Amino acid sequence: MSDLPEIYREIDKTEKERGRWLFAQECVFVLGAPDYTALPDTSLPEIAFVGRSNVGKSSLINALTNRKTLARTSNTPGRTQHINFFSLASVLMLADLPGYGFAKASKGEIKRWTQLIFDYLRGRPSLRRVCLLIDARHGLKDADNQVMKDLDEAAVSYQIVLTKCDKVKDEHLIEVVKKTEKTLSKHVAAHPKIFQTSSSKGMGIELLRAELAMIADIR
Ligand code: GDP
Repeated sequence: MSDLPEIYREIDKTEKERGRWLFAQECVFVLGAPDYTALPDTSLPEIAFVGRSNVGKSSLINALTNRKTLARTSNTPGRTQHINFFSLASVLMLADLPGYGFAKASKGEIKRWTQLIFDYLRGRPSLRRVCLLIDARHGLKDADNQVMKDLDEAAVSYQIVLTKCDKVKDEHLIEVVKKTEKTLSKHVAAHPKIFQTSSSKGMGIELLRAELAMIADIR
């Protein structure tokens, strides 16, 4: 991992402590919604996680919440095509969106995914931010760019979280960050800060916890 950029120093100790406290609280599975009619009715601030299949989304949610099996990995049949909701300390809702970009996905499956995501984005006034997960090895792919366009259109604030940063050399990571920043500057709803994480090494997890607690305005 490269040296932490200046912007991270803005997150002070207290914010980190809040993040640590929040994510150490009880986190319970609320429900899995196969369509918009099943979305939980809640006024809790909400953070959603989205990314290509296999990007490391389940691993990141598990690392954030310090659990091994809270979010199921992409190999788990059944629940992965649903939006899975988790309530953290009854103060923050985490929404785990189904992965996209599966090479084998049929047109019907892609349509279903798009519909579900659009219905979700339209009907979620409590949604504070979407974390768009990007594999640090690959950077942004066509499918990610499309999702960014969709999020711009839905006027939902989102931010890039690079995953699996332990798998790349520093020079590569710097390059990916630069390229991604350039693309982000063209997207109206994108937050400029890019998080660099590794769930397996625990890198960047504390900073992301602090940021999410801040977004949710947890005090
Ligand atoms: P999902 O489909 O996005 O939920 O992805 P998973 O969390 O199931 O992860 C996909 C694969 O990537 C699994 O084999 C994980 O062990 C691996 N993986 C996830 N995060 C990391 C990470 O930070 N570092 C490394 N080296 N591997 C990871």
